[in-house]
Amino acid sequence: MTTAVAGAFRFFDAHVVRSRRLGRSIVRVTFGGEQLRDFAGGGRDQSFSLFLPHPGQSAPVVPTHAGESWFRAWRAMDPAVRAVMRSYTVREQRREQAEVDVDFALHGDGGPASRWAAGAGQGDRVVLLGPAVEDNKSVGFRPPPGTDWVLIAADATALPAAAAILAWLPAGARARVWIDVPDAGDIQDLPCRADAEITWLVGGDLPAAVRAAELPAGHPYAWIAGEAGCVKALRRHLVGERGFDRRSVEFSGYWRLGASEEDLRAEALAAPRVTSAA
Ligand SMILES: Cc1cc2nc3c(=O)[nH]c(=O)nc-3n(C[C@H](O)[C@H](O)[C@H](O)COP(=O)(O)OP(=O)(O)OC[C@H]3O[C@@H](n4cnc5c(N)ncnc54)[C@H](O)[C@@H]3O)c2cc1C
Repeated sequence: MTTAVAGAFRFFDAHVVRSRRLGRSIVRVTFGGEQLRDFAGGGRDQSFSLFLPHPGQSAPVVPTHAGESWFRAWRAMDPAVRAVMRSYTVREQRREQAEVDVDFALHGDGGPASRWAAGAGQGDRVVLLGPAVEDNKSVGFRPPPGTDWVLIAADATALPAAAAILAWLPAGARARVWIDVPDAGDIQDLPCRADAEITWLVGGDLPAAVRAAELPAGHPYAWIAGEAGCVKALRRHLVGERGFDRRSVEFSGYWRLGASEEDLRAEALAAPRVTSAA
């Protein structure tokens, strides 16, 4: 049953088709199901919300019939019953086969999504809240006209997005890329037509690596994602010390050390709303 949420987004029922380890810290889970034929991923860093069951539940409990009020309805449910909601990225999509690949960075901090992914098995049921149209606001990578080169910096959680961005860049585009993974075995081949120079770090320091680099001349566009503190330091360096136009730096804290996604959501909800003056 399909339920529209708000024009550009809707719920998709799906199940695990297969899963395989790509490295010590990364597992690729392929989701399938007829509804995914209509999952209209826009490529690049297309993200979506993934709803997972708690241990012992056969399917995630999500108010898929609440329309645009789904979030209020979900919040009103018992946290022990309602599905675990986490943000993930489309690593690759095959619409004709109704399949979506998601690469999960596994971490030892006991997060429910990481634990779920480590044990994901064929047939396990999930729900995705994702795009119904390709041009949607969950795609952040949008270099403006006149961009001469692109800087990408990502940790293991943002590696799927960085990989999909590289696959999307056209031939002739110029990119400098830094990717930090926990283990040398997590390093992957990243197919790409662009002229991309990729530097892999293993348990490294992304801000230090970018700080030490000589960057190309011309108008840059930066895309940075990963642990929030690291993203903040990188953005500050690019804007404050390298003179990047802040409008040309797309940045996103994908997780924060010591805080679960629930903690971050609670913080965002408690923050005073900023309303723009007329
Ligand atoms: C737009 C967006 C797209 C994302 N795409 C992806 C993706 O494609 N693949 C992916 O793996 N992640 C992705 N993430 C990050 C992912 O949502 C978080 O890592 C999330 O916290 C994982 O949920 P969890 O239940 O495992 O841990 P949580 O319950 O949220 O957190 C539990 C504890 O683990 C810590 N933690 C969370 N993630 C990590 C980590 N990677 N390493 C070490 N400690 C961690 C937290 O600080 C907390 O202390 C994305 C995030 C956003 C916002």
